[in-house]
Amino acid sequence: MPRVCTICTHPDRDLIDHDLVIGIANRRISAQWHLSEAAVRRHKADHLPERLQQAHKQRYTAETVDIQQQLTRLNIETWAILKESRDPANRDNDLALKTVARLEKQIELQARFQKDQELEELMRRVEALETIRS
Ligand SMILES: [Zn+2]
Repeated sequence: MPRVCTICTHPDRDLIDHDLVIGIANRRISAQWHLSEAAVRRHKADHLPERLQQAHKQRYTAETVDIQQQLTRLNIETWAILKESRDPANRDNDLALKTVARLEKQIELQARFQKDQELEELMRRVEALETIRS
């Protein structure tokens, strides 16, 4: 049966991981949480990197979704303003031109954002390949 990691199963794992990430010495952590130094060393080498990667991925995904939602909302609002400015009873060419310029900016932003995401996905694949190779 594989040995259970005393830190992975520790109720204060988040706090311990946090201390490890900010660079507190293994010896100090083991003393503070009444753990063996070997357990801290093992956990830091074998379990911490994967967890950090997961946290980064989750945060990245949440941020991406949020930005996309905000862009979509802005886009809907801008289209509504453009429609209003083209209303025959209330025609406003000046506003229409300004709105079109805004929409162009938004499309540009969306395109750049998509490119960034594709790049990030590509980098992730390269990293995965490197991990397999090494
Ligand atoms: Zn562990």
